[in-house]
This record gives sequence, structure tokens and C-alpha cells, in this order.
Amino acid sequence: MTEQTPAPLRRSDTCGALRASDIGRTVTLMGWSQTNRDHGGVIFLDLRDRSGVVQCVFNPLEAPAAHEVAQRVRSEFVIAVHGVVQPRPAGTVNPRLPTGEVEVHISRMEVLNAAKTPPFPINDDNAPEVDENLRLRYRYLDLRNTRMQQNLLLRHKAAQAARAYLDAQEFWEVETPLLIKSTPEGARDFLVPARLRAGEFYALPQSPQLLKQTLMVAGVERYYQFARCLRDEDLRGDRQFEFTQIDLEMAFVERDDVLTVTEGIIQAIMRVIGVDVPTPFLRMTFVEAMARFGSDKPDTRFGLEFVDLAGVFAATEFKAFAAVLAAGGQVKGINAKGAAGLSRRELDDLIAYAQSFGAKGMAYFQVTPEGLKSPVTKFLSEEERTAFATTLGAEVGDLLLVIADTPHVVAQALGRVRLHLGEKLGLIPENTWNFLWVVDFPMFAWNEETQQIDAMHHPFTMPKAEDLPLLDTDPLQVRGDLYDLVLNGNELVSGSIRVHRRDIQERVLEIINMPLEQVRERFGFLVEAFEYGAPPHGGMAIGFDRLIMLMAGEKTIRDVIAFPKTSSGADLMMDAPTTVDPLQLRDLGLQLRKRG
Ligand code: ASP
Repeated sequence: MTEQTPAPLRRSDTCGALRASDIGRTVTLMGWSQTNRDHGGVIFLDLRDRSGVVQCVFNPLEAPAAHEVAQRVRSEFVIAVHGVVQPRPAGTVNPRLPTGEVEVHISRMEVLNAAKTPPFPINDDNAPEVDENLRLRYRYLDLRNTRMQQNLLLRHKAAQAARAYLDAQEFWEVETPLLIKSTPEGARDFLVPARLRAGEFYALPQSPQLLKQTLMVAGVERYYQFARCLRDEDLRGDRQFEFTQIDLEMAFVERDDVLTVTEGIIQAIMRVIGVDVPTPFLRMTFVEAMARFGSDKPDTRFGLEFVDLAGVFAATEFKAFAAVLAAGGQVKGINAKGAAGLSRRELDDLIAYAQSFGAKGMAYFQVTPEGLKSPVTKFLSEEERTAFATTLGAEVGDLLLVIADTPHVVAQALGRVRLHLGEKLGLIPENTWNFLWVVDFPMFAWNEETQQIDAMHHPFTMPKAEDLPLLDTDPLQVRGDLYDLVLNGNELVSGSIRVHRRDIQERVLEIINMPLEQVRERFGFLVEAFEYGAPPHGGMAIGFDRLIMLMAGEKTIRDVIAFPKTSSGADLMMDAPTTVDPLQLRDLGLQLRKRG
């Protein structure tokens, strides 16, 4: 009789789930071999699947055939094992591993697939940091690391939590197309040539802005979508060409309705990591945020707030301050409590840092028992020194920093110095989640380059009702019904109540000098839709990648995106972008020209 082939192994359990309560059970596991150690005959193999790692033991005396196969197994081989869960011998329990009380004694094993030696180790805490480009090139291996798997899992759970919350609030998830016409977010569009209409192009959406507003006219009332947004921007800082927003729009609402729903989503998402954030979130106007922190996305986890010194130096003879004040500039300071001990070198670096953000200089004063110590003290009168120290609440041991410049430069430079010092002086508490609404942004901004007024957000934002008269007299003073949600100094959400009245819309477009033909050309369908009964509406979009990044404690959004691009926009795994076949170009009616 021929020997019967044993039935193929079928997975019964996952590696990471095994506990002491499973002792005595016979299990079949499948996964990747993480490490394989031969201890004088007995082989210990760490088997990993998505759920975790468990130790498998191959004893040549108990199961010679399985042991023989195990000898040939290398890192990242895919294997199936069958055996009995046993307690680990006394003294070998690993409290750092959830499965650390048990091991599986293997009686049968199969190699499901061999693997080449990976270019970097997986889940090896002791290995040197792996170059990110190498990780991106072999992203499927990088994603096997527990840390990356946890990030994907967190992202999934957060998405589910948001969906459940929004469903309970009776929002409908509606998909909008990827091949559209240009949207008004102000970045460069990615274009897609239309094969069937040579010479014409689709744009990929920078956001579903116009479509979600159209959905309001369509009577959807409460819309959301996990929207992919595509912006062909220079990839400064931590940006990606494509990113995900939880995009939302509501009809028949005022600002606070949108804020409340947003808070509900954020609360639901934060519960995924066991953090219960209290609502409502703090609110601060744009003007206050700029005055106190020099930023429209202030990190409020620590103080070092700006103090306006215009009053103190109103009549000063110190030319550097007097000239700035006379020219309409600002003199502002911060009190770095207890930092008087910074070395000369550290102070020079701090000044150079302020200068790299446009400041001409930064004055510093060490508060000593003998009084203020500073190269500029001699230029200040006795009264000025006293008023200055009092206004900044100076105490012995403090370091006072002052910048005198245009409001823009003061905000930029002193704001950066503040953040820098917050970190350097260890003032930023860990595990603190400071959500802050910044509201009432200016509706318009002056564009130095084009010498024109631009819309601050997009041209469909509603001016604040009480500022409507200013549209005709002083547009740059008009505040928009705009709001941003900031988390620990990161902009997470932005949104607005939209214009639904034609007269206001026309006036806004006039102010930003967008001729009606251009409006019709670019957003004609929306303008037309608005003529058929647009409800009052507003919405917002949450930067989902950034939120998950902060929740995961990662430093870059690339670590919470499955297949991100490099900071220069390349996909190293797929090798994109690439040239294409000339025939494809011909089909599209395109011809490449040398860049000149
Ligand atoms: N579409 C806007 C953005 O991407 C968000 C909004 O106003 O709803 O910033």
C-alpha cells in the first residue's frame, strides 16, 4: 500500500494570541520565520504573523522530520507548523512578549515558501536604523515590522471609529470622481490627458470641495468621504502629493454645528488609543493666536507667550526699537523662565536662528541678582528697564528675548524661537493632546507678488455677517467664517461656512479680481447649481494622515501611509514616475518636448 500523504495543514490559531490558557492545545500556525536559533540540537524559531510572535521548539528526538526541515529555514521563510502549546521552562519566561509564557512544541512543519535574504532585518530592535529609501524600495518588507503594522491597524481602527460616528450622526458616505475639473485649493493640479478628446485634460481633485458643495445643492444635507486629495506642490517639509482627508459638508448649519460634529469625530478617533478628549475644544480667534503665539497654529502645550512691549518702549531713545515702532512695527518679547544660564554660544545660535526667519536681530537680557545683563541695557533708561522687567514678569534666572520688526517678521521669528525653546528647555509635556480651534481668520490676504487681494481659504467662504459692510469699504479687515483645528501646533482641520448668496459671492469674486468669465470657466457648474436653491452650508476636512501620525507618535506621515512617495515625489517600489511608450503618447495626441 502506498503511504498516504498527510492532509495539508490548516491554520487553527494566530501566533500572537497564544497564552498560558492555551497550554495543552494542539495548534497549527502559519507565518514568517523571524529568527532561528540552534541551541545544541534543539531549534528555537520565532514565528511571526500579523498578530505577533510565538516561540516554536523543534526537538530532534521528539520530531526528527520537522527538526530536519527547521534546520533549513531562514529568516522570512513562510512556514506552517503543527504542535502542542507548552509552558516555557522555569526561568525562560519572557515577560516582554505577550506570548512569553508559552512555546509550541512542533511535531510537523512545512515550508510554504522560501525567501531571499531580506535587505534589512525585520523587527530587530538592535539593528542600526535602516535607510528610509531602502525601506521604501522594499516597502512590503518594511510593512512587516510590528511598528508599521501597528500604524496600519491604528489607521484602520481610526477610520472605522470615524465612520461609525458619522453613520450614527446620519452622514452619508458619497464618493466623488477622481477625474474632474480644476478645484480652488490654490495648488497646482495634476493633469490627466483625455484620450477621447485630444488636447483636453482632466484635473485630479485637490479636494472634493466643489463637488461636496454641489451635493448640498443636491439635497444630501450631510456628506462625508475619506477623500484622496492630489496637489502638485513642491514637497516642502512633510508633504505628499496625495493625502487623505475626512472630508465633510453639512446643510442648514452654522459654524458651531460643524465644530461640534468635528469634535465628535476627533473624540471617537482618539478613543481608539484610549484617550478621552474633553469637548468642546478651546477656541481662540486668529487675532489672539497671532498676538499671543505669533502663529495661526499655536502649540499651546507650553507658555513662553509673546508680550507686547510697544507701551514700554513708546518713548524710547533706543534707536533700534524706536525706528521700528515709528514705522508701524512691533516690539515683542518672551520670558524664557530660568534660562539665563544659556551659554554665549547658545545665545548666538538662538539669534542666528531668529535671523534665519527674517529678523534683523534679537536682543537678550539675562536677569541676574544685579539686574538685567545685556549688550543693549545701556541704551535703555532706568524706567524702561524696570517697566520692561515687570511687563515680562522677570525674576532672577530668567532670560528675556526681544524682537523688533514688522508684525510678520516678529510673528515668524519670535514664534520659531518660542517653539525651539519649548523643546530645548523641555517645556513640552508628553502625552498631552491640546486641541484648539482657531476661528475668524481674515477673509482675504494681500499678495505682495501679484499686488492683489487673494482669498485666504477659497473664494466660497462666507464673510462673517457683522463684517459684510466692510466688503465695500475695507476688504482686508473682513473676517471670514473660517476655522482651523490645531493639535499641539499642527494644523489638523480646516473649513468654513460657505457663501450661498449670489450677491455676496459676486462681491467676493470681484475683490479677488476673478472675472466672471473666469469663474464660469472654472466653477461654472457650481455657480449655476447655486441658482437652483442652494441651502446655507459649511464643512471642513480633517488631515487624516497627520492625525494618525500624531496618534502613532511618528515624526512623518510617510510612516502611516502604506505606500508613500519619497520627499522628492518618487515611488521607489513601483519605480514611478517613468517614461511611457511612444505609442501611449500617440494615442493621447501628445508629443514630448525637451524642457527648455
Ligand atoms: N476643501 C478644504 C481644504 O481642503 C476644506 C474645506 O473647506 O472643507 O482645505
